[in-house]
Amino acid sequence: MVRRGGPGCLSKSDAAYGSDRTAASESTTSKAPPDEGRSAFGPGGNESPETLDEGGRREDRRPEAEDRSELCSRAEGPLARSAEPEIPRYPRVQRLGAFEVPPDTVYGAETGSFPSVEQEAHPIRHPNPYVRTLPLRRMDFSEPSEATQIRKALDDFIEREVEPLEREHPEFLGEDYQRHIVDDDHYQVPEYRDVVETIRRKSVEAGFYGMDMPEEVGGGGVDLLTTAIVTEHLADRPPGFHSAIMGGAGGPTPILLACTEDQREEYLDPLMDGEITTCFALTEPDHGSDPHYMDATAEKDGDEWVINGEKYWITNGPYADFAMTFARTSGEKGDYGGITCFLVDSEQYEVEKVHRTMGLTPGGQAQLRFDDVRVGEDEVLGEVDDGFGTAMSWIGGGRIKIAANAVGTAQHLLDMAVEYARDRETFGKPIGHRQGVSFQIADLATEIEQVRWLYRYAAWKIQNDERARKEESMAKLRGAELANHAADVAMQVYGGAGFMKDTPIEREYRSARVLRIFEGTDEIQRRTIARELI
Ligand SMILES: Cc1cc2nc3c(=O)[nH]c(=O)nc-3n(C[C@H](O)[C@H](O)[C@H](O)COP(=O)(O)OP(=O)(O)OC[C@H]3O[C@@H](n4cnc5c(N)ncnc54)[C@H](O)[C@@H]3O)c2cc1C
Repeated sequence: MVRRGGPGCLSKSDAAYGSDRTAASESTTSKAPPDEGRSAFGPGGNESPETLDEGGRREDRRPEAEDRSELCSRAEGPLARSAEPEIPRYPRVQRLGAFEVPPDTVYGAETGSFPSVEQEAHPIRHPNPYVRTLPLRRMDFSEPSEATQIRKALDDFIEREVEPLEREHPEFLGEDYQRHIVDDDHYQVPEYRDVVETIRRKSVEAGFYGMDMPEEVGGGGVDLLTTAIVTEHLADRPPGFHSAIMGGAGGPTPILLACTEDQREEYLDPLMDGEITTCFALTEPDHGSDPHYMDATAEKDGDEWVINGEKYWITNGPYADFAMTFARTSGEKGDYGGITCFLVDSEQYEVEKVHRTMGLTPGGQAQLRFDDVRVGEDEVLGEVDDGFGTAMSWIGGGRIKIAANAVGTAQHLLDMAVEYARDRETFGKPIGHRQGVSFQIADLATEIEQVRWLYRYAAWKIQNDERARKEESMAKLRGAELANHAADVAMQVYGGAGFMKDTPIEREYRSARVLRIFEGTDEIQRRTIARELI
């Protein structure tokens, strides 16, 4: 394999496509069941394998429609369902007074328990009329302590290892970053690739790279909720080099947990060690939201597969050492089955063109061409004809990470707007004293909390082995809208200053837009939500 080196490009949404804002790897740590939409890097907008049966009920016809519990039991590391559920499940209807609660809980603060029946009859305080209907399965709104520790460790790492590089290379972050990062053919220049690789190496050493991968393959075994919280934290800072910390789109992805032992040695291990990078090649010129209608084919010839096709907008495509490449091996266009994922070394395909994008770190996406590319049977990832299922199984976590990334971005923009509103004076008063400004800020802060708890709830559900497709899509949908709205509000509060390239706001404004497109467009998220409801 020719090693091109360089991790996922530093483009906007690292959770999915390699970002200059966040550092989360693109793939989810949760083995959610296959879903409509694409995996962590794919288009995320394809038809769901589910259809309605004659009685109008949803029938699951996914090729890989295994029992969810089986999916979980197959998972390892952080994906594995623990024998003991972490969060105790209480019977839905139970008399109050039966539960021990921490002393600082509002109800029964004095006694350490919920009020007894007598207390309810003769309440010392005004009883909350909804107490009886509170869900009795406890929900914990505190941040997992591991997330707090990782956030702190990441801050230290960024201060020690990343910020010096940012100071050394202001040209890659300043007003003219686009001009400096790429050459005339729109490839990222070697000096920029060096920075990215330096951070990646250091991140591997520090243990952040691939931290959401299972420990069994050398990852950190960090769970989805914690990863998402860390993703949010990393996005809550101005554009910088920190996206390389976790690899982005070119880094470790749970899809590769389907590797055989040999494949693991050749692809996954060096990927985890930061020696090589990858890309996820699903979208085609004519098929984004509906990748299962793909035109790419792979035909069997003796012991080999012959792949033909074209893949579009592939993040880290220009630099990947191998591509997870999807092609139809049987069935008809539109079938979910009959698609196979191949691990194709980069010297076997052609990078036809590096795309030019809006707002993202330039030089990150490419068009790949596969002309009679021959690969052995041992280059099939997972099962023949089941590639789509393998890829889609990680979709939920990808969406949650996008939402988390959006929340972090929005928080950063909100903080900037608040600070500016305090300082900037018009008509003799800070603009923050004007309702026209302060209400925009108040609304944005409210939306941030909404999406924050939505993505955390979705992650929590997944980790509790509950179906969360609706919530994942809701979080992704609202998260993408939130980041765009936050950039708009920040720009409005800053006025002309926000429109200039002196602040990161105009860049955020441009780069937020893609969140509504990749990993499943807004419309595809709504479609998923509606299908879950109807
Ligand atoms: C920056 C970037 C990076 C990307 N990286 C990767 C990558 O690494 N790997 C990869 O495989 N792909 C990647 N993609 C592709 C991405 O996943 C697709 O762009 C996305 O899924 C949408 O597909 P499309 O652009 O072809 O839009 P289309 O599918 O052509 O849709 C066009 C419009 O029609 C709407 N629409 C489509 N179908 C429906 C429907 N049934 N109901 C209602 N509305 C509908 C869509 O919402 C959209 O508004 C990337 C894209 C971008 C922009």
